[in-house]
Amino acid sequence: MSLTLYCRECGWMASDSIQLEEHWKFIHHGFRQPPPNITQKDFDNISNWGLHKQAHTCPVCLDHHTQMVGLAHHISSNHPVRDYFRPMTHTSQILLDHWVQIVHACFGKKIAENIIKGIKHRKCPECRNFFKSTEDCATHIFKEHFKNCQQAMNSETYINWSRYVNLVNPGVLPAMEKHHMDGKKSPRFVLHRQPDIEVLIDSPVMAQQQMAQDLQEELFAQI
Ligand SMILES: [Zn+2]
Ligand SMILES: [Zn+2]
Ligand SMILES: [Zn+2]
Repeated sequence: MSLTLYCRECGWMASDSIQLEEHWKFIHHGFRQPPPNITQKDFDNISNWGLHKQAHTCPVCLDHHTQMVGLAHHISSNHPVRDYFRPMTHTSQILLDHWVQIVHACFGKKIAENIIKGIKHRKCPECRNFFKSTEDCATHIFKEHFKNCQQAMNSETYINWSRYVNLVNPGVLPAMEKHHMDGKKSPRFVLHRQPDIEVLIDSPVMAQQQMAQDLQEELFAQI
């Protein structure tokens, strides 16, 4: 399988360069796809790729995308389906359908549909409002629905939503959750509470501060 004879817009292999020229002329109105980023060696290996790798690969560019949501967006904005009334569109419906089938097989129907629609990661699981990005949505969630990350972790709705987001948009939530753990709202020093009342204090400075605070409270109580 020679990469130079392969039309990536159609997922079709020409038998020789003359046939490929004809294909470009008649099917693609003379359009020639830019050279691929993939090497011939990788291309030869495609049939051995796992389902996950195939799902994460743009079927036209053959580039790997770490984020499914990003890939769905890339495909919908860069590879519009071929339409004979719009000569600037080139991608074959069959090729895109095949990718959709792979995504279904890889993630299951429900998640696959959400990936393709690219909606759930931007929809607040609590009030169902939509946001421009996963980051905006998570910011809203932590601002409006939960005081901190710990509270969110106790919510089944949040857990289910974050599971999905971590699958299609990895890396975004853990960073935001961490921020809301150590954010401005949380105390500067974390007192590690053991299951049984006891409070452990991390450093002598903290012990001093704690003592000063206790003293102050005591004084105020006496006033
Ligand atoms: Zn083609
Ligand atoms: Zn692409
Ligand atoms: Zn909300």
